[in-house]
Amino acid sequence: MPISESMVQDIVQEVMAKMQIADAPTGKHGVFKEMNDAIEAAKKAELIVKKMSMDQREKIITCIRKKIKENAEVMARMGVDETGMGNVGDKILKHHLVADKTPGTEDITTTAWSGDRGLTLIEMGPFGVIGAITPCTNPSETVLCNTIGMLAGGNTVVFNPHPAAIKTSIFAINLVNEASLEAGGPDNIAVTVEKPTLETSNIMMKHKDIPLIAATGGPGVVTAVLSSGKRGIGAGAGNPPAVVDETADIRKAAQDIVNGCTFDNNLPCIAEKEVVAVSSVVDELMHYMLTENDCYLASKEEQDKLTEVVLAGGKLNRKCVGRDAKTLLSMIGVNAPANTRCIIFEGPKEHPLITTELMMPILGIVRARDFDDAVEQAVWLEHGNRHSAHIHSKNIDNITKYAKAIDTAILVKNGPSYSALGFGGEGYCTFTIASRTGEGLTSASTFTKRRRCVMSDSLCIR
Ligand code: NAD
Repeated sequence: MPISESMVQDIVQEVMAKMQIADAPTGKHGVFKEMNDAIEAAKKAELIVKKMSMDQREKIITCIRKKIKENAEVMARMGVDETGMGNVGDKILKHHLVADKTPGTEDITTTAWSGDRGLTLIEMGPFGVIGAITPCTNPSETVLCNTIGMLAGGNTVVFNPHPAAIKTSIFAINLVNEASLEAGGPDNIAVTVEKPTLETSNIMMKHKDIPLIAATGGPGVVTAVLSSGKRGIGAGAGNPPAVVDETADIRKAAQDIVNGCTFDNNLPCIAEKEVVAVSSVVDELMHYMLTENDCYLASKEEQDKLTEVVLAGGKLNRKCVGRDAKTLLSMIGVNAPANTRCIIFEGPKEHPLITTELMMPILGIVRARDFDDAVEQAVWLEHGNRHSAHIHSKNIDNITKYAKAIDTAILVKNGPSYSALGFGGEGYCTFTIASRTGEGLTSASTFTKRRRCVMSDSLCIR
């Protein structure tokens, strides 16, 4: 049988991939002691990915999806064990969501103009090696979702994960490399260092081979990336308010809000962090939260105690982030029923447990005089993050007014916040929502350069 050029390419790729396995000193694929070595390995892998067909990239992505599903529970447990945050059941769902709904190469499309003067295309090309900084709140989910999107765009990726979630992040990085090797691709499509620090992050941000950095995390990291002199994708903090007006189905609103707020113990950046409701519906809303959705009403004294513990010394206490409601209540000496899902209370918007992005199931409810007042208070609470906001209303004029005023990347109407991630809602999934830099919900196309390709006076065959 004659050997075709593509067969030779496949054999070369396989040999090169096997040669690179020796690079990783930890026994895990893609994990290095030094950041410079990690970047060099990702660069080598990128040279191979660059020559691959879209079909070959898609084969690797299919294998990554399969492995995510097989390891969803392992990663969910590892994430909870390592960080002490979130809950296993919801984290399993999040991994399946990444596997099922993160766009692959189908997201890379071409725009064409054809006419008397020829044919012009906009093609989406890779950046090369992308630097990615990931949070401890969705550690493996972000690594996996970023890798699928970045690889679909023809890139490889260097991660500087949150140190508090390094074990889980390394597991995910190893998994995507194993998938690549299994599908005939190179090792090191995603890499990291054993011990990520601010120093390794700085090396990455300044490295000549990294043209683009995607930062998923709080305000500090996004500002650092946007000050790096490189192109940055900034997926920053949120504090999403859920507005409820008098036209809403109040019973359903209570259920949706509590479901969204308690998902993975409120870790997702899109999750409802506080409610602003018009005065006439506040009591009914709280009634349904308490009687049908396993909420706990915190007294004034309990709110004060929670503030002391959760915001000890005015700073967010990391030991409380991502804990469940019963555990949080036990920290202030309250033995709540085992099924307690969410702690609620009514307070002014300036209440520290309302104005701060807590990332735990504590949900303050702010009373508004009327809808305009609700919008004003919600915009204030979102702090100009332009991240996520939610509304429960059947009044289209109200919804439109709120959407324009709050100007967020995500606005969910009449559903739980997680429907914005494609979970029980239409649309694709991402764990990197570029709120600060405006790309919104990132996908493969976000990680590409737009290139114009012009054929003058030919190839128009109309
Ligand atoms: P974090 O800001 O503490 O850490 C995020 C990452 O940035 C980590 O890898 C950390 O090591 C790194 N980092 C922090 N400061 C840095 C600096 N000055 N220079 C370089 N790297 C730095 O956030 P976290 O606690 O891991 O995650 C929660 C935060 O992230 C919340 O504010 C949440 O809203 C936000 N978040 C946003 C998105 C989004 O898509 N927009 C997704 C998840 C989380």
